[in-house]
Amino acid sequence: MFLLGIDTVQEVMALLEEGVIVINAKRQVERVNTAAAVLLKISKQELVGQCLTVHGCKILKRASALLFKAREQGRPAMETLTLSEKGSVEMIASFPKGKKGILILRDRKNMQKVVEMGRAFVANASHELRTPITIIKGFAETLQDLPEISHQMLGDITEKIVRNCQRMENLVKGLLTLADLENIPENRFQLCDVRALVDNCIHLLQPLYPQAVVTIEDVDELDVWADPDILELAIFNLMENAAKYSSQTPHITVILSLQEKGPTIAIQDQGIGMSEGDLERIFDRFYTVDKARSRKLGGAGIGLSIVQTIVQKLGGTIAVESTLGKGTTFTLSFPSMQGSLRNH
Ligand code: ADP
Repeated sequence: MFLLGIDTVQEVMALLEEGVIVINAKRQVERVNTAAAVLLKISKQELVGQCLTVHGCKILKRASALLFKAREQGRPAMETLTLSEKGSVEMIASFPKGKKGILILRDRKNMQKVVEMGRAFVANASHELRTPITIIKGFAETLQDLPEISHQMLGDITEKIVRNCQRMENLVKGLLTLADLENIPENRFQLCDVRALVDNCIHLLQPLYPQAVVTIEDVDELDVWADPDILELAIFNLMENAAKYSSQTPHITVILSLQEKGPTIAIQDQGIGMSEGDLERIFDRFYTVDKARSRKLGGAGIGLSIVQTIVQKLGGTIAVESTLGKGTTFTLSFPSMQGSLRNH
């Protein structure tokens, strides 16, 4: 029979993310790994040689009972212990051949966080969708109740209905894009000529903001290893924001450059700018600096989180600098082409 040496067992225990505790026949702790000590917030020295219940720790008390159950029933026993709203510990106890007990502890804190994030996302999305629905319903009812309405009022009301439908459409489109981004296969990545993508974005922007003035400062040729559709979407979202958050004629400068670390794309505006406090939160989903303004412009705080998700997907980073009343610059930096190509 192949037996693992003590050193190997210790090594394996040290590598595990789960907490592991081994109990001897006298129900004293014989071995404990670092993950268990961290989870229990009790040092290894304090645990080894002691009975599980000696520290008065809630987890260990339950674990002791679970080990007893495992020995009685002759098969492993499992239990999840809820500690607070934020966390729980999953415990598996086993007593192979009734000699030594083994206890595995799994911290479910992170799982809980993921579940909470999902819940918050659904709550935010529902809220953002409910608002335009309520507005549209209200105006539609007004039209129902006032059959003899002036031409002017009819125009006002239908304009508001259309604007809110547009807002809902933008939001749903944004949420679908975010979901799609998770599934974009990397085999769609190719060398993309950034200048050509920026030109496409200008064509898309012109009908929406005919007064916008876009200047490009570029190098001879700038390529980024990317899926062209998503890179163009990131650039377009930033250019659209630059136009959207400018009080007068939007002046947008797109600066393409090849830095030491790799290609960068900066989108600069002379618009309304943002405070330092806002800068920390603008990439959060559904965050808008001025809710009323964003709603009027059809936004719901999804655009920048799409940009950030795209840039991360392409292995790049995004930075922002802004001064209230002066303007904002978003800079996208991507890995150098050699690095990108080597990885694919
Ligand atoms: P929104 O749909 O509200 O435009 P975004 O996620 O694109 O959502 O942007 C989040 C917030 O960041 C916006 O509500 C806006 O207040 C701010 N913001 C984004 N880009 C700019 C910019 N270029 N200048 C000033 N504020 C900006």
